[in-house]
Amino acid sequence: MRALLLATTLLLPGTAMTPSVPTIAARLEPLRLGQLQVWKLQDGRLSLAASLLKGLDAAEARRLLGDRDAADTPVNAYLVRMPGHTVLVDTGTGKDPEEDSGHLTEQLAAAGVAPSDVDLILITHEHFDHIGGLLKADGTRAFPRAVLRVARREHAFWTEDPSRLPERLRDRAPKLKALFEVYGKAGAFRPFEDGEELALGLRALPAHGHTGGHTVYAFTSGGHELWCIGDLIHFGAVQFQRPEVGVAFDLDGDRAVKVRQDLFREAVHRKVVLAGAHLPQIVRIAPKGAGYEAVPVR
Ligand SMILES: [Zn+2]
Repeated sequence: MRALLLATTLLLPGTAMTPSVPTIAARLEPLRLGQLQVWKLQDGRLSLAASLLKGLDAAEARRLLGDRDAADTPVNAYLVRMPGHTVLVDTGTGKDPEEDSGHLTEQLAAAGVAPSDVDLILITHEHFDHIGGLLKADGTRAFPRAVLRVARREHAFWTEDPSRLPERLRDRAPKLKALFEVYGKAGAFRPFEDGEELALGLRALPAHGHTGGHTVYAFTSGGHELWCIGDLIHFGAVQFQRPEVGVAFDLDGDRAVKVRQDLFREAVHRKVVLAGAHLPQIVRIAPKGAGYEAVPVR
């Protein structure tokens, strides 16, 4: 199943793999926010070409990328330990012979967590680099005790009416259905409605635009707030300063820009810690000029 999915990945012209994920330290230490413990788990990496940026001229894009034509970006999942739950947000690309990916399990081990310890998996959206680690090579669940949750709107976007999708993505519907059904057959797939509180101190925030039901997950504890923002931003070196700049991956570009601007504004106001699937660091943001500057927390 996974091989099938990966064979039809969304790698647009302009994406390519770059060398090797950095070697893992013996033990990954968490970021602590109230009662939350947060680990950034790097499953793989992608090189994203500057030409993927929308609404920015090529020279300015190159300047913001430090005189380079591409940005090296990680593919991250996040592990969040909270009272009562061990949560995994997204699952990376999974093992692919052609990519440096599939490091999630070893990263989890470095955080001291076994796949069977994870009891809740939250998917920000159903792109290949977020769902690729859900199954083992033999097609069974990689996280046998976890309930898998995704916005009903997101799952429906991909699976219920493929004619609404760009042509190149239409063949994904049956594959995604089959993938989620592996959890469904075990009674472990539970789509949720927009805005639903998923656990005490854990809410799903609709952030549609990148995909039809892209979701941000908001964790709160002791006055701290952490948002796992998925693909709300791809190019950290560009889109904090210029949040109005989109990327070719955004299926509804205008909406993706508006959602990014709205959520960044709110994140400043509430001093939210942001954890992105393609950001090298966990950050807070502060206004700077017409945009924002990202201040690493970790
Ligand atoms: Zn992504």
